[in-house]
Amino acid sequence: METILTDRIFSFFDKDLKIQRTNLLLKATSCLNGGHCVFCDYYKDTDLDYIYCKEFNSQIIDKLPNNNGILGLAPSASIFEVPFESLIYLKNHLILNDFVYSEIQTETHWEYRNLIYNFKNMFNTPVKVKIGIETFNDNIRSRMGKNFKIENYKHVLRYSDSVNMIVGLYCQTKESVIDDITICGENFKYTDYNLIESGNEKILNKELIDWFKDEGQYIARGYGNIKVWLNCNEYLGD
Ligand code: SF4
Repeated sequence: METILTDRIFSFFDKDLKIQRTNLLLKATSCLNGGHCVFCDYYKDTDLDYIYCKEFNSQIIDKLPNNNGILGLAPSASIFEVPFESLIYLKNHLILNDFVYSEIQTETHWEYRNLIYNFKNMFNTPVKVKIGIETFNDNIRSRMGKNFKIENYKHVLRYSDSVNMIVGLYCQTKESVIDDITICGENFKYTDYNLIESGNEKILNKELIDWFKDEGQYIARGYGNIKVWLNCNEYLGD
C-alpha cells in the first residue's frame, strides 16, 4: 500500500525487491539534452531558477521520513543537475536525524559519468547511480533522441555497475531488447527496465509492448538483478 507523504515523496513496499522504498522527486535546474529524448517528460519539471530549485528541494527534504530500505532520488533530469547545495542538504538531513536507509539509488546522463565516483563517496550509505543508457545499441539510442556513443558495455562498467533501460519504442525490436536484457542480466549488478507504453502513440511499438508484457518482462526478471517497471506510476507506488 502506497503512502503519499507529499506530491514529491512516495513510500511503498517494493514487492520485487522485498524492501521498503521511498522515492523523492528532486527538482533539477536543466536537462543537458534539452528535453530531446522522445520518451521523456521528466525534464518538464526542471526550472532554470537555481535559488528556487534549491529552496524547493530543501522543503521536500525536510519532509523525508525515516523509512529504512531504499531511498530513491528521482531528479527531473540528472542528479548532477540538481543544485549541489540540495545534495549537501540531504546528506546533512540524513546524518542529523540519524536516518538509516540501506541504500540510495539515483540516475544520471552518461555525460556526467566522471562525477559518479565522488557522488557515491558523499554518503555514509551504499549508493547506486544508474546511468541512463536506455539501450546498448548506439543507432537505436540515437533514434530515441539520446545521442551519445559508447564503445560497449564494458565502457559503461568503468563508471557504474547499474543502468536504466527503456523498452516499448518504435525504433526497438524484440531482438534488440533481448540483446539488451542479456547484457544487463549477465554483466550489471542492477538494472531498472522501464516499459514505455503511454504518451505519444507515434513513438510506441505496440507489438513490442505486448510482447514485453507477455514474455519479455519474465526473461528480464529471471536474471534476478533486473527490476522491471511496467509503468511510471509504479515508481510512485501505484
Ligand atoms: S531522459 Fe534525461 S537527458 Fe533525456 S530528456 Fe529526459 S531528463 Fe533530459
